[in-house]
Amino acid sequence: MRRKIIAGNWKMNKDLKESTSLVQEIIQKNKSFNCEVYVAPAFPFLNEVSLFSSSSQIKVIAQNVSNKSSGALTGEVSIDMLKSINIESVIIGHSERRKLFGEDDITLKMKLENCFKNNMEVFFCIGETLDMREKGIQNDVIENQLKNTLFDLNNVNLEKLVIAYEPVWAIGTGVNANSDQVQEIHCHIRNLLNLRYGKESSDLIPIIYGGSLKPDNSSNIFNCSDVDGGLVGGASLNSQTFVDIINSI
Ligand code: PEP
Repeated sequence: MRRKIIAGNWKMNKDLKESTSLVQEIIQKNKSFNCEVYVAPAFPFLNEVSLFSSSSQIKVIAQNVSNKSSGALTGEVSIDMLKSINIESVIIGHSERRKLFGEDDITLKMKLENCFKNNMEVFFCIGETLDMREKGIQNDVIENQLKNTLFDLNNVNLEKLVIAYEPVWAIGTGVNANSDQVQEIHCHIRNLLNLRYGKESSDLIPIIYGGSLKPDNSSNIFNCSDVDGGLVGGASLNSQTFVDIINSI
């Protein structure tokens, strides 16, 4: 059985008080989840949110990490720093990091390599832009994103890998991919994982969907056979909508 996962990416939202209140509200609204639940607060609040969630099922995940281990890198945060506050999971390759901060395949490959070397769990985001989908090349784009990064590494801890399919055109736009579109790409990703790693081990890798998930579209998407959960942006900033999405899986 594959893991079922819902993760909330809070991005650059919520200050300290708002972050700790949000995690407390999520815990109060649902004491026992039917899947694994993660939240990704901003760096300064990882520790506090972890402390508040330590007695619950909620795990805390970082939104990013440096591809270097230490040194003169102003503004960067290392894996060791995250581990020192017991953060063991990180989102890599979010389309906002790729587009707004210029993270290319070479950088992402280094980040992935470092994470696996240090036993970090990785949520690796991939997905096509609107232009690519309109040209009908989304399958090739996904394949290349994987081939140039993850598939080019020799030492991948598959047990520590979650793939997040996030079509860029659906992120923060209110327009989600429909369940046929999601199932088609997730099945494509699953086939690529099978070819690269063999069916037995890759069948256990969760593939989650992200892009304008809301309580009114989540259960349709989660019902797809190759969808193992969701990465939620905007709707994770409100405890009720996030809990409703969790409950819909
Ligand atoms: C995201 O940024 O990962 C995301 C899925 O955002 P939203 O749910 O707001 O589209």
